[in-house]
Formats: sequence, C-alpha cells, structure tokens
Amino acid sequence: MADPIRIPDDLKPVDGRFGSGPSKVRPEGVAALSRVATTFMGTSHRQRTVKDQVARLRAGIAQFFSAPDGYEVIISNGGTSAFWETAAFGLIRDKAQFAEFGEFGAKFAKAVRDAPFLAEPTVHKAPAGSAAYLTAEAGVDTYASVQNETSTGVAVPVQRVAGADPGALVLTDATSGGGSIDVDLTQTDVYYLAPQKAFGSDGGLWIALMSPAAIARAHEIKESGRYIPQFLDLVTAVEQSRLEQTYNTPALATVFLAAEQVDWMNAQGGLGWAAKRSAESAAAIYGWADRSEVASPFVTDPALRSHAVATIDFADSVDAAQLAKVLRANGIVDTEPYRKLGRNQLRIALYPTVDPADVEALTRCIDYVIHKS
Ligand SMILES: *Cc1c(COP(=O)(O)O)cnc(C)c1O
Repeated sequence: MADPIRIPDDLKPVDGRFGSGPSKVRPEGVAALSRVATTFMGTSHRQRTVKDQVARLRAGIAQFFSAPDGYEVIISNGGTSAFWETAAFGLIRDKAQFAEFGEFGAKFAKAVRDAPFLAEPTVHKAPAGSAAYLTAEAGVDTYASVQNETSTGVAVPVQRVAGADPGALVLTDATSGGGSIDVDLTQTDVYYLAPQKAFGSDGGLWIALMSPAAIARAHEIKESGRYIPQFLDLVTAVEQSRLEQTYNTPALATVFLAAEQVDWMNAQGGLGWAAKRSAESAAAIYGWADRSEVASPFVTDPALRSHAVATIDFADSVDAAQLAKVLRANGIVDTEPYRKLGRNQLRIALYPTVDPADVEALTRCIDYVIHKS
C-alpha cells in the first residue's frame, strides 16, 4: 500500500471543521462556557442565571434578524425536527403546500402527509440540485419552503406567495440558511432554525421568529380543541419563551453557546456582515471549482448555488469518498456529501463561523491530495 498522504501544515486551514451540522463551534465560545462552568452549568433553568442567557439569546436573535414589529423569538426543545411536528399540530389549519427540493423539505412534508387530522398537502417537487417553488392555490392555509436545502446546496429567496388566500401563513425552514443568507422577515411568518448550523452552537433547540399572524394561528388552533401533545404545544412554547424559559429542561450549554455566538455575530456587524462573509467563502469554493479541471459545482444554475453549504462534484478520475477520507486523516473533517444523495461529491459548510481564508486553504489541500493520489 502507498504511504498515506500527508498534507503540509502550511497548506492546511487553521480550523479543519467544514461540517454542515453540527458545524464549527468557535473555541472562544467554548472558553466562555468554561468560565461559567460552576456558576451557570448545572444550575436550575427556572432561575435568573439561566433565564438571563435565554433572554440574551432571544434578544440577540431578534436584533440579528431585524425582527419586524410584533415578531417574537420562540424557543423550545427538540431541534428543527421537533418544530416540524409542532407546526403540524399547531400551525396548519387544514391544507398545506410544500416546495420540496431535498431531504429536509421532504421530511416536513411527510410529517404533514402522515397527520390524520390534516388534508393531503400539495407538494411541488424538484430534483436534487434544482429548486421547487410555492404557487398560489385556493384553500391552502399554510405554505412551507426551505431557504437553504442542506442536503443539496440549493438556496432560494424567502418570499410571500402572490395571490395566496388572505391570512395564509408562510413557514421557512432556515435551519442552515438562517445566519448565512440575507432575509427580509416581512416575507415570512415563521422563520425557524436550530443553533448547530450557522449559529455555531450545539443541537437540541429550535428557534422560531414568529409573526403576530402565526402566533394568532397557534391560539386559534389550540382553542379549536384539536388534540395537541403537550411537548409539541406551540402556545405553551410561546408562553414559556415570554418568561425566558422552555417548557422542559433545555441543554444549558447549547443555550449559552448560541447566545455567545449571536452576540459575537452582532458585534461583527450582524446579518449584513455574516451574509457577506459566507458570500466570500462561496466565491472562494465555487470560483475554485469553476477553474478546476476535475471539480464543478453540483448546482448548475449559479443563482441557486448556496452561500451556506457548497456541493462540489468530481470527475470520475477522482474518488471523492477517498478524498474526504484523506482530508479527514489530516484533520480536515466532515466534507463528505449528504449520504442519501449518493454522488461523487464533497459538501462544505460556508457558515459565517468558518473563515473564508480557511475555505481557500481547503481548496489548496484538495488540489494537493488530488495531485498526490
Ligand atoms: C439540519 C437541518 C434540519 C434538521 O435539524 P435538527 O435540529 O437536526 O432536527 C432541518 N432542516 C434543515 C434545512 C437542516 O439543515
């Protein structure tokens, strides 16, 4: 067997984490957490010390996204997957419409299709690497799309549906797009995410910016008498969030790291800064792929290429799985593609936590490994 390929240290990124989620957590955040190891960790989530961190996180998120008047930051447990079930029980009145162009959009659509108390949803599908869009449809009370499909690296603008029934809600899965890609929140009623992606924290929470119309819908459905499991009760999540707490015990480290990260991102210049930094990383990786003889962006329409997560296809002469393995052995991790996509591909997170200079360095490392193979 040939010697394992050793990438020279001076080519390597400073930080080798390029995973799309869990993603790079800033060492400064972990250091800050360590400073509260005995005063915050292991203390009651019903007391001031923890509630202050929930409050810091909620206020920081509202500031970061320039939350319009009346929009509230709602937090609960279980990550985005739990939010999908919460929305099925607490936001969709009867009929939903989905734009589905990847695995994550498909999961929410399935949750709603399986709910016996809801009508069969309309699902507009597009093949991996392209985008599907919402269209006005009479009788639809809830529209759902994904800002950034993490499984394919396709990103679409967040937009209301022209001609939709009055009062219809728009729900946007911003789990990976939120924080990396610009958004105007007046274009959606619920912009929801989890903090292990662009917000460089850990998993286990969902965070939703909700419009007054969305909060009113949650009350309307609860008052209608529909059976709603306690853990998935959106009205309870709203009430608890207003008290700076969660319905059940949250992961305190996740709350703290997320609050720390949002403060950091706001101090750098907020969403404008973050979107610009992710765009810089995107220019580095897609520019390199366009110039490369063996690499090319998987998403053929440049307008759909995500600034949050890049997917790069390789020619048959390069074994991308082997490439990811060599990178991993050299401390550059989680460049593997989304498993179900099954392509000869690498997937690279471009979240604002990742330094664009490290993305540049990654491209040099890939060239080095291909050259040595
Ligand atoms: C990661 C991700 C999810 C799932 O988030 P969990 O917190 O693991 O449930 C959903 N949607 C998108 C777009 C994602 O990137």
